[in-house]
Amino acid sequence: MRHDGRQPDELRPIRIQRQFTKVAPGSVLISAGDTTLLVTASIDETLPPWKAADPAAQKGWLTAEYCMLPGSTSPRKRREREKVDGRSTEIQRLIGRSLRACVDFEALGPRTIMIDVDVLQADGGTRTLGITGGYIALCDAIATLGDKVSKDRPVLTTSIAAISVGISHGTPILDLDYIEDSQAEVDLNVVMTGSGEFIEIQGTAEGRSFTRAQLDQQLSLAEKGIRQLMELQQAALKG
Ligand code: UDP
Repeated sequence: MRHDGRQPDELRPIRIQRQFTKVAPGSVLISAGDTTLLVTASIDETLPPWKAADPAAQKGWLTAEYCMLPGSTSPRKRREREKVDGRSTEIQRLIGRSLRACVDFEALGPRTIMIDVDVLQADGGTRTLGITGGYIALCDAIATLGDKVSKDRPVLTTSIAAISVGISHGTPILDLDYIEDSQAEVDLNVVMTGSGEFIEIQGTAEGRSFTRAQLDQQLSLAEKGIRQLMELQQAALKG
C-alpha cells in the first residue's frame, strides 16, 4: 500500500476539462491527483524561419513550451523571464518530440502548432501529464482547421499518452507523486502510441542500479497505465 492508499498499479484520479479557456483552439485543464496543468494548442499559419527555408516547406511543424508557474510549488519557483531553465528546456523538447510522433506534417500543411504546458500545481509527473493533455488539446485544435486540411488524409495518425513509473522500496509503482518521486530508487518516464509502440523512455536510478527484468516490469506497468489514460482521452474527446 502506498502513502496515499493506492495500489502499486493504480493511477491517481484523472480529471480532464476541455475548452477550459476560449481563445486557443485547444485548451485542456488536466489533473492527476494534485498535479494540475493548463495545456493549450494554438495554430500559427506560418512556419518558423528555419523551417520555411527548408525545401520540404509544404510540411508543417509542432513545437512546445513548458513552464512551472511560480505558485505551483513550495517554495515558490522563480518566474522564468528571459531564460528558460535547463529542466524546462528538456521537458518542453520531450513534449514537442512526443507529440510530433502523431502528426502527419504533409497533411497538416505549412502551419505551426504550438503546445503550451503551464503547471498550475506540481506534485510529480508534470511532463508526462503535459503529453497526455497535449494530445487532447492537439485533437481539438486540429478539428478547428476544417476544410483547410484534406478529409481523406488524417492529420493525426495515432494517439499519444505518457506516464511515470518507478521502483519504491523494491516494488514497481505507477504514476509517482512528488513524495514517491523524491524517494524512488528508479524513476522512468514512458511515452507510447495507441498502437502500443514506444516513443520515448527516460529512466534514471538514484544511488543504485536496476535489472533488465525490473525494466520490463516497469514498462508493463507503464503500458497498462497508458492504456487507461488513452481510454480517458477518448472519453474526454467524445464528451
Ligand atoms: N519540482 C519542484 N520544483 C522544481 C522541479 C521539480 O517543485 O523546480 C517538483 C514538482 O512537484 C515536480 C516534481 O518535483 O512535479 C518532479 O520533478 P521532475 O523533474 O521529476 O519532473 P516531473 O515528474 O514533474 O515530470
